[in-house]
Amino acid sequence: MRSKIVAGNWKMNKNIAETEALLVELSAKLPDTTAEVMVAPAFVNLNAAVRHLESSAIEVIAQNMHFAESGAYTGEISADMLLSIGIDTVIIGHSERRAYFGETDEILAKKVTAALAKNMRVMFCFGEELEDRKSGNHFDVVESQLKNALFSLDAQQWRKIVLAYEPVWAIGTGETASPEQAQEMHAFIRKTIAEAYDNSIAKNVSILYGGSVKPANAAEIFSKPDVDGGLIGGAALVADDFVAIIKAI
Ligand code: PEP
Repeated sequence: MRSKIVAGNWKMNKNIAETEALLVELSAKLPDTTAEVMVAPAFVNLNAAVRHLESSAIEVIAQNMHFAESGAYTGEISADMLLSIGIDTVIIGHSERRAYFGETDEILAKKVTAALAKNMRVMFCFGEELEDRKSGNHFDVVESQLKNALFSLDAQQWRKIVLAYEPVWAIGTGETASPEQAQEMHAFIRKTIAEAYDNSIAKNVSILYGGSVKPANAAEIFSKPDVDGGLIGGAALVADDFVAIIKAI
């Protein structure tokens, strides 16, 4: 049975004092929910966030990691480092990592493999660019992103995968995919997985939607049968907005 998830990607926002202040407010306002709630603060604030949320239902997750175990990779963070501070879920493949840091499908496949080798949970992000959608290529692009990074995994490994479909044209733009567009793509993703593997993997993987989810549109997007929650950027930086989105699920 797949879980409902609302995850906040804080990106390169909030210093330590601001991180703690937002966590205090979020913890105080967190509604009762059966959904999993996650936040991904910046690397330097992860340890403090984990300690702050020790007895909270909110899980702290990482925005990225390197595929190597350790070594000469200046500025990078390994799976073991995350695990050593109590973090066992990592976002991989965010469109900003792909666009600004040259992360290719090949690199992402290595990261996924490295995280799974450490028994971490992976929130794998993917989605088409505006030109792909305009030219009607969006299904092909999404299928190839999934295939290149994930389709060599075995059935057991899929239990540790959460998917986040994030059309690039909807991230941070204020433009959201319509609930129908989100549902159409999520259903396509499940069908593609069912064809590559089987129905049970397709049915059991959580597929989140990401791209300008706000309190005003969350409930409608989340009401779609193949949408299991959201990966939230901008709105996750404001406690009241994030809480409203959690309530919408
Ligand atoms: C994101 O960065 O994953 C995201 C969905 O951002 P936003 O909600 O701001 O569009």
